[in-house]
Amino acid sequence: MASPQPPPQNRSILIIGGGTFGLSTALSLARATASSADSQSTTTTTITVLEKDTQIPSRFSAGHDLNKIIRAEYADPFYTDLSVHAIRKWQTDPLYQPYYFERGYLNVISAAAPAATRQGLDKYRASLETHPAFRGKVRAVRGAAEVKRLVAQFDGPCEGWEGYYNEMAGYAHSRDAMDAVYRECKREFADRVKFCVGPEHGEVERLLFEGEGEGGAGRCVGAVTRDGQVHRADTTIVTAGAGVVSLMPQQLAGSSSSSPGRGLGLGITARCWGVVHIQLTPDEAAALRGIPVTMVRDLAFFFEPDRDTNKLKFCHMGGGYHHLVHQESSSSSSSSSSAQSSVADAGPPRDLASSQFVPEIDVQHIRRLLREALPALADRPLIDAHLCWIADSGNSDFVIDFVPGAVGKSLAVATGDSGHGFKMLPIIGDIVKGLLESGEQSVARWRWAVHERNNNDGSVDGVRNWRNGAGKDLADLVRAKL
Ligand SMILES: Cc1cc2nc3c(=O)[nH]c(=O)nc-3n(C[C@H](O)[C@H](O)[C@H](O)COP(=O)(O)OP(=O)(O)OC[C@H]3O[C@@H](n4cnc5c(N)ncnc54)[C@H](O)[C@@H]3O)c2cc1C
Repeated sequence: MASPQPPPQNRSILIIGGGTFGLSTALSLARATASSADSQSTTTTTITVLEKDTQIPSRFSAGHDLNKIIRAEYADPFYTDLSVHAIRKWQTDPLYQPYYFERGYLNVISAAAPAATRQGLDKYRASLETHPAFRGKVRAVRGAAEVKRLVAQFDGPCEGWEGYYNEMAGYAHSRDAMDAVYRECKREFADRVKFCVGPEHGEVERLLFEGEGEGGAGRCVGAVTRDGQVHRADTTIVTAGAGVVSLMPQQLAGSSSSSPGRGLGLGITARCWGVVHIQLTPDEAAALRGIPVTMVRDLAFFFEPDRDTNKLKFCHMGGGYHHLVHQESSSSSSSSSSAQSSVADAGPPRDLASSQFVPEIDVQHIRRLLREALPALADRPLIDAHLCWIADSGNSDFVIDFVPGAVGKSLAVATGDSGHGFKMLPIIGDIVKGLLESGEQSVARWRWAVHERNNNDGSVDGVRNWRNGAGKDLADLVRAKL
């Protein structure tokens, strides 16, 4: 994937967002400048990461979590290949290997699953069955008896569960893996990677442009943080996750009268899913140790208990939630003035507290799953409720490219993770590095220009079918009382 060109040298690089994509990018670029410095006498490349949380790993990051699924089944073989590449790193790279737990992946539907969900599952299985890396590693699971033969701990009815088990999959302890990348940057590359964190020194208020470009915003020369400080850079890379919707100026986001509003013009929606935990006793946790990641696509998914906290994590697999707001803008000419109303993506809240809830519909699905698999836990308090925000491209393709409207390839984005990007932590930085080295995105689907508008309709085309249903506005949902 990486270009054979020499790594970016003697320049200043600004990375906005120290989450999954940002940390991986910082490490890849730092390594590239270091290996090049070995053969040259000096390198003056500096990498500055701006992060709005006071800490890294950032609590705003979608990756700041007990665990994330590491799996390679996709309806689209392109992402299956990419994920196999990432999984090999999780399995073997000393930096990532300690955080990867290959417990297998039980991917099923319940008896009540709608046809579209069933169809999606079939595509997933097909993507593995035709891939040489999974030969002998995937087997069908049909009905409760087979589920229980595989996972003896499931003592609920598991009624009509049907799907498959993939043994070359599992989960990563995601927060710890991000922390490892951060510590590697600090330990090995303190001379060239600098982190500025916090709502004043680290949170970017706006990108900074100079000059004028045809139909664009000029040259991006860096960014301004909330404390007013200007961070100048030759190249700015936005890896702000869901935060991208409020960072990209309208003229760069391709906004038009038919797609006005923050985020929408870019084709990215800030979307979230609810996450909750159940606290287990040490004995209860020991009894569930070793279970596979279990995904009941029409209900929810969960993992083996966290090794440090004995918590079980659950997430309801729906179409996710967004929040759109109406905005008024006025336009005036010499003869008239008019007010225009448009819809804008509100983006993720600026503070953590505003995301600390889940919709009631999530709780209903999670309790149904517990009654099916682990009925003794079905009425346990659900704790640590929070929304986890991602940048959703609608067709689930990442967007990793220079922003065409910014002069001189001065601004790049690595975004559109669409809720399946954590597994790419070991490889996404090299992909961004490759973009900088080659000067263009050779993978058509990741180019800015071909990026589809976001119409999360829950369809099962392409890679979209990991979702189960259409997105809903948070404003229309009842919050769970936990
Ligand atoms: C509920 C849920 C479950 C998921 N499960 C999986 C899974 O099982 N497997 C998987 O592979 N992926 C999973 N994902 C997706 C995965 O977590 C994301 O794809 C990945 O974290 C995206 O990385 P990112 O760097 O683009 O965004 P993030 O990791 O969210 O990082 C963005 C960073 O930018 C910072 N930022 C934002 N705005 C600004 C600003 N203005 N100034 C400075 N900093 C800013 C944020 O604080 C944050 O640290 C899941 C996501 C969710 C929500």
